[in-house]
Amino acid sequence: DSQVPGDLIARLPALELISVMGVGYDGVDVAAARRRGVMVTHTPDVLNDEVADTAIGLMLCAARQLPQADRWVREGRWEADGPMPLTRSMSGKRLGLVGMGRIAKAIAHRAQAFGMSIAYTARSAKPELPFRYFPDAAALAAESDFLVLITPGGEGTRKLVDARVLRSLGPKGILVNVARGSVVDEQALVEALEQGHIGGAALDVFESEPRVPEALKRMPHVVLAPHIGSATAETRQAMADLALENLVRHFGGHPVRTPVPECRPSA
Ligand code: NAP
Repeated sequence: DSQVPGDLIARLPALELISVMGVGYDGVDVAAARRRGVMVTHTPDVLNDEVADTAIGLMLCAARQLPQADRWVREGRWEADGPMPLTRSMSGKRLGLVGMGRIAKAIAHRAQAFGMSIAYTARSAKPELPFRYFPDAAALAAESDFLVLITPGGEGTRKLVDARVLRSLGPKGILVNVARGSVVDEQALVEALEQGHIGGAALDVFESEPRVPEALKRMPHVVLAPHIGSATAETRQAMADLALENLVRHFGGHPVRTPVPECRPSA
């Protein structure tokens, strides 16, 4: 992630703008930037479809165990042991989204094509959406087969998914994290997986990237990805174009296109 702490900002007296190539900017000390009059921009929307595709892919991988199926063939187990054990369906199941912003809406749109029912938690209810709102992540988890995390990181969401939420998800429930590692209590997640309090997990993000707990690597019912939510040539190009456009506009004396909310003129 882009890490721009306050002490780095303090050491750059000529700094005018921090252009984050990504939508999440939890690594940037925006308060310190604002105090110095430094603009912070990010790249929302252009990556919604890609990250939503990744989330759906991880949900399918966790439910249908596609990476494990690939290993079953490569390791000769099909020939030696016969068919792989049965997996679980995704179609028609209950999806709980933690966060209902730009990317969550793209995930919900795709999940509807899988016949999934959709509920969510967020800071506020969105009565305009046809999905059930839960004010509390544990209550949402209790009503979900898949719990997909897609909130920002940072202090507001730190360990939002803790042992209590995982217990509520239950022994058949699947956790998918495409948000930030900080949103989950990683130690509690390892324990929940070891003790069978949840059924499985698919994780694109981790607390101390690129370090991933060895316990997670050893677990057969966990799918791991190296923070690839938006990582295609097409989408990274679109993100780079937008990041560059913000720089060009700023240094050409024009308002930037996508300031972070805290740096919008109305903020
Ligand atoms: P967004 O439009 O700002 O949506 C964020 C959602 O999170 C909003 O619905 C917001 O609630 C909710 N939220 C914020 N704080 C919360 C809290 N404490 N409890 C519950 N919900 C909370 O952002 P987005 O564009 O969809 O992006 C979401 C995040 O995805 C990014 O910030 C980034 O961390 C992550 N991301 C990851 C990847 C990857 O590669 N894995 C790629 C892109 C983005 P309200 O609607 O009520 O404000």
